[in-house]
Amino acid sequence: MDEQVLRDPSLKTRPIVAMVTASTVVVVAAMVTTVVILNLDSTTVTEATPLPFSGRGYNREEYMAARQSLLAKDQGRALGAKLKLNAKEQILNGILLKEKKEIMEKARVDRVLYTPALSFFKSKDWMEKTDTFKIIRKMPKGAALHLHEPAIASMDWLVKNLTYRPNIYMCTNKQGLILINTFQSPPSDPDCPWKLVSAERAKAQSIEEFDHTMRRSLSFIKTDPLTSFNGTNGAWDRFNLWFQQYTEIDGTVHNATFGAEMYKNATEMFVATHPDFFGAKIIMSGLRFKSKKDIADEVKTAMALRRKFPDFVLGYDLVAQEDPLNPLLFYLDGLLFPTQQSLDNAVPYFFHAGETKWEGTDVDENLIDALLLNTTRIGHGYALAKHPELADLVKERGIAVEVNPISNQVLGLVEDLRNHAMVPLLADDFPLVISSDDPATWEALPLTHDFFVAFMDLSSQDMGLGFLKQLAINSIRYSALSKNEKESLMSMWQIKWDKFVEDAVDQFSSG
Ligand SMILES: [Zn+2]
Repeated sequence: MDEQVLRDPSLKTRPIVAMVTASTVVVVAAMVTTVVILNLDSTTVTEATPLPFSGRGYNREEYMAARQSLLAKDQGRALGAKLKLNAKEQILNGILLKEKKEIMEKARVDRVLYTPALSFFKSKDWMEKTDTFKIIRKMPKGAALHLHEPAIASMDWLVKNLTYRPNIYMCTNKQGLILINTFQSPPSDPDCPWKLVSAERAKAQSIEEFDHTMRRSLSFIKTDPLTSFNGTNGAWDRFNLWFQQYTEIDGTVHNATFGAEMYKNATEMFVATHPDFFGAKIIMSGLRFKSKKDIADEVKTAMALRRKFPDFVLGYDLVAQEDPLNPLLFYLDGLLFPTQQSLDNAVPYFFHAGETKWEGTDVDENLIDALLLNTTRIGHGYALAKHPELADLVKERGIAVEVNPISNQVLGLVEDLRNHAMVPLLADDFPLVISSDDPATWEALPLTHDFFVAFMDLSSQDMGLGFLKQLAINSIRYSALSKNEKESLMSMWQIKWDKFVEDAVDQFSSG
């Protein structure tokens, strides 16, 4: 707000009608004496709409030119709008925009439900049939910057591989949901009696049927959690069950170094056999219901892990449902500890923050603490657009926000994805990436389904391949890779990208 405008005494006596017609953005609060003017400097407070022509209004041609220029300026601010597409990319862009427009216009003009914005549980099968989905599936999407490792592997792998291993137990809880765990010998639990999966499977009349039932029970996809589990909290309760299901087989509690080493070895083995997979890094994460002391100890462990695996362990985060649990501020002393020792000891933070609809609450203020604690990126940041000062800071500093649209919908932050809180920030080229959070739980493919809904619901009808390409580029740019690693990943990605464009044009331009 321009202070000078407010202090200008002439403004207070100006008739309200003149104020309202004076310019584009005027908010009138109750009375003439409390008129508030936004985005105006003293030179634009004039009696009429500022026109480039003196003495008369636009003729039609001038109007259309002014309209085109304003529209282009507005569209030009969107994420990806500044990318220049080469000839082949422009062909693919045309293919994508054609289908996008057809789907949107059909729903808008015929006033039928717009499937891409419906609950993922209703839209999933439909979206997979579109050319846009098939193209996005093949597209090299860069890096997934926000995934939780118990929810990455596919449901097929979980049922057909993991549950076929020895010492895997299952139980059916009171809600009829199957839980899976691994024990040397299972504890007695009358509410959910544990049985060996291999024995149950052997007893089953049909193995296919047995596996199918297990898959349906484990998956979110059979049903819409928001209606089936009674809103956001119910969805989270169901969701938390998933994460209770994995423990060490003989009850041994390994230290964090063991865990980091295990992930590092597994990553290296995978990269060795999959040369087009660049690699993976991990962020240690604590749970927001733990004690201050536990979290303070974990932060110290994260410091030690950073020293031991500087290229693999990236930093520290706090996870679990933000709304009812402890805010970052609760753990402040532990979180401040590393930099109080010395800046060299800093543990980079990657906080989940602002995954909430509760404006102005402790949980909403997690965004403030995440920024003051120098977070490298923000997980979700769903509430960010409600905090203009914080949003400015995020943009200035290039702190990427990891947007997980399907997760936000499944966990009840938004129903119609076109109303996703990140839409205005995507339209203004904020440092954003799209990720998938916990794709296996709702049977989404890592990145593909989220990119699809970002394309169809979170971006404008005129945003095509440039939007998708920019998201892929952002995922590398805002990754926590070293400069050299980013450069080699970018060149690896570029080769894949060019091939993808070539192939997609061949495959989809015939029709
Ligand atoms: Zn997450």
